[in-house]
Amino acid sequence: MGYARAVSTRGFSEDELIAAIRKVLSGDAPGVVIGVGDDAAVVEAGAGEQVLTTDMLVEGVHFERSTISPRDLGAKSIIVNISDVAAMAASPRYALVSIALSPEVEAAWVVELYGGMRAACDEYALTLVGGDLSRADAVVISVTVVGEVASGHAVTRAGARDGDLIVVTGTLGAAAGGLALSRTHPSKAAEAFGKPWGRELAEAFARPVARVGEALTLAEAGATAMMDLSDGLAKDLSRLCLESGVGARVELAKVPVAQALLESAGLLGVDPLELAIGGGEDYELLATIDLTDVERARDELDERFGVTLTEVGAIIEEGLVTVDADGNEAPLEPKGWDHFADGT
Ligand SMILES: [Mg+2]
Repeated sequence: MGYARAVSTRGFSEDELIAAIRKVLSGDAPGVVIGVGDDAAVVEAGAGEQVLTTDMLVEGVHFERSTISPRDLGAKSIIVNISDVAAMAASPRYALVSIALSPEVEAAWVVELYGGMRAACDEYALTLVGGDLSRADAVVISVTVVGEVASGHAVTRAGARDGDLIVVTGTLGAAAGGLALSRTHPSKAAEAFGKPWGRELAEAFARPVARVGEALTLAEAGATAMMDLSDGLAKDLSRLCLESGVGARVELAKVPVAQALLESAGLLGVDPLELAIGGGEDYELLATIDLTDVERARDELDERFGVTLTEVGAIIEEGLVTVDADGNEAPLEPKGWDHFADGT
């Protein structure tokens, strides 16, 4: 750990870069015994169980430096990990960050990246306790987050039962719309940014929200299985069903397509429902819950967070199917966000 192997970056000496990065890392925080600066961080173990996750963002695979600001990228790299911890119904506590920089990266870009990370950590009461910095051909950002949950209270992907309702928080597809917007012709993008929906889509893609409190609320209300939607409803629901050993029937007319995406469809030339089901990076929660618990869950999410909870279908014994408004059934293709394909 530490920043001993920092690379020299344009405009800054190695020591200056380390000093600048240290400034944006967290200082003293509850539970931190020894923070940044020693060989390793020391933190107090909480009373329950620890929840650990890590996620890697690779330039050219998960992001392009031309389509996201370093501040947004830094925040997003933290938030996607928080989202995974939240999806277990846990609270995020500590983060470790390792970054590889390519030679053409400006020092100011790195400082902005850390600034975004710091802002996200502050927003979610997460303490950045250390990390590493190195050189590579492309920028790589690897974040590890440690959270905690009361013993036995983590909500997994494996608990869905035949007959449970399938629910999602918020709306879907806005982040995929934002990505499409970032890749569209500059003249179309300029037109879109003049509209509220254009800015909303861009914001959804650049600054996702991790549903921490919402996940705890869903767990308390009786969610039987839960995960965050990082790769699209179709793909993520198929993963949940696989882990639970069940199938799903999704009612297409009920899928909560983001309003901004509906408004953008003409200009961007996209199918909103397709993006809502197959597009990724919404970071909304996908959960299954018993019919008798869903109303309470919906009321509490609305009351506490002003967040909607929408039933999109039901768990069945086996198979993955969609049904349209006319009752026509079709297989739910578990396709979606594949970072090893073309990134769409
Ligand atoms: Mg996840």
